Amino acid sequence: MVPPSELALLIEHSDAAGREAIRAAAVAAGLMWRCRNSTCPTYNQRTDELCGGCGRDRDGRPLSDVQPGLYAAPDELWEQLRNEVFNHFCQNEFAPLPDAVTFPWVSRQDTAPWSLTELVIHYGGFKREYLDDLSGTWIEELLEEIALAVEPGYLEHLRITLPH
Ligand SMILES: [Zn+2]
Repeated sequence: MVPPSELALLIEHSDAAGREAIRAAAVAAGLMWRCRNSTCPTYNQRTDELCGGCGRDRDGRPLSDVQPGLYAAPDELWEQLRNEVFNHFCQNEFAPLPDAVTFPWVSRQDTAPWSLTELVIHYGGFKREYLDDLSGTWIEELLEEIALAVEPGYLEHLRITLPH
C-alpha cells in the first residue's frame, strides 16, 4: 500500500499526462476515489469519507445526515436535534452557519458516546474543528435520547445537516 504522502509526491513530480495516469492507477487500485459530482474534479484519498472539493460522499450524494446505530431514531427526535444545533449557532451569532455538524464518537459510559466538546463543522467539502462545551444543554439530552433509541456502534459518528 502506497502511503498517501508518497502518492502526493509522485503526482506533484509528474507532468499533466503522468498525473492523469497515476491518478487513474490509484483509483483502479482503490488508493484514491474520484468525486462523482460532474462539476468537481477532485481526487480524494482512500480514507477520506467526503470529497475535499464539494463535500459529497463516494456515491456522489450531497453532504447528508449520518445516523449511527442499529435502529433509526424517531424523525421527531432527529428534527429536534437539528433545531437545537441550529439554534446553538444562531444564538452565538456564529457566521457563516455550517452546512453540517459532526459529533465524533468518543468512548463514554452512562451517556451518549459522542463528543460534546470537540465537534467538526462542515462547509461543503471543507471542515474544521469546533471547540465548545455543549454539556448540560438540550443538545446533550437529545444525543442521550438518540443513543438510547439507535444503539450506536463502536466508532460511529453522528452527523446532522443544518437548514439555511
Ligand atoms: Zn467533489
